[in-house]
Amino acid sequence: MDFPSDLHTHSTESDGTQTPTVVVDEECRAGMRAMALTDHESATGWPEASARARQRGIGFVPGVELSTLLHGRSLHMLGYLIDPSAPRLVASMARVRSSREGRAERMVARLSPRYGITMEDVFAQVHHGATIGRPHIADALVARHVVADRTEAFRTILSPGGPYYVPAEAPSPLDAVRMVVEAGGVPVLAHPGRAVHAGWLPDDMIRELAAEGLAGLEVDHRENPPEVRGRLSSLAEELDLIPTGSSDYHGAGKPNRVGENTTSPRSLARIVARGRGTRAEGIPDEVLALAIST
Ligand code: AMP
Ligand code: MN
Ligand code: MN
Ligand code: MN
Repeated sequence: MDFPSDLHTHSTESDGTQTPTVVVDEECRAGMRAMALTDHESATGWPEASARARQRGIGFVPGVELSTLLHGRSLHMLGYLIDPSAPRLVASMARVRSSREGRAERMVARLSPRYGITMEDVFAQVHHGATIGRPHIADALVARHVVADRTEAFRTILSPGGPYYVPAEAPSPLDAVRMVVEAGGVPVLAHPGRAVHAGWLPDDMIRELAAEGLAGLEVDHRENPPEVRGRLSSLAEELDLIPTGSSDYHGAGKPNRVGENTTSPRSLARIVARGRGTRAEGIPDEVLALAIST
C-alpha cells in the first residue's frame, strides 16, 4: 500500500523555524499521507497541526521528542500518542524545559565576553512559549553575524566538546520509556545510529529499554550511519520493535527535507494500535488493519 508517513518533525513550538500549520503544508507538498509533530518537550503545537491536518486531509499522529541522558550523553526518545496531561511526564517535561533555560543562560554567560550576545538576543529568536535550545543560541549568533547558519554554529562554537557547551538536565532513557508508557504513549528511540556506531549505546541497553516497554526504533534517519542501519533493523526484528523512518524536519533550521525518510504503513498502524493517551486522526481503516496482519 502506498501510504508514506513522516513521523518526526519540529515547529516553532521548539526549534523548528515554521509554524505547525506550515509544517503540515510542507508534508502535504512532499506527498506524505500522515505525519507526526514531535516538538522537544512540548505538545503545544498539536491543536494547530491537527486542525491543519484535518483541513488538508492528511493523517496526524501527536508526539513529543524527549531529551534523555545516558552516562552524560544525549539520547532522544520520541513519545507518540501520550496523554498530554499525564502528571509525571508533564512534570518531567516542565523540569527539562526550565533546565534548558538556565542552561541557555549559562552558555550565554560563557559566550558573551567573546561574542557579545545576551539572553535578549536569544529570546528574540524563540517563539513565545517554545522549548529553548542551542538552535536559538545559534540563531542569535547568526543575527550577530558571528556564523553564517545554525549548522556552522553547531559544528564550531556550540559543539559539546567546546568551551561554551553546558549540558541540560534530562531523565535517563529508562525513565523516559517508563513515563511515556505510563502516559499511554508509544516510545520510539530517536536516531540511535550514531550512539550505536560510537559504542556507547550497546544492544543490551536497547534490550533493557525494550523490556521496559520501548516500542520502536527510528531506523531510517539521516543521522544513522548507513553501516549500522542493518543492525538496527535486525535488532528491531529480534525484539519485535517497530521500525520507523523520518525526516526530523526543522524548516530552515536544518538541511533535512520533508519526507526524505518515511515510515511504512504497517509501522504507522502498529504505533497507532499501541497508543492509549491520545488518538491519532485521519488514518484510514485499511491502514489501521495492517497492525494485525503479518
Ligand atoms: P539542545 O537540545 O539544546 O542541545 O540542541 C540540540 C538540538 O539542536 C537538536 O534537537 C537538533 O535538532 C538541533 N541541531 C543539532 N545539530 C544541528 C545542526 N547542525 N543544525 C541545526 N540544528 C541542529
Ligand atoms: Mn531539534
Ligand atoms: Mn533528536
Ligand atoms: Mn528531532
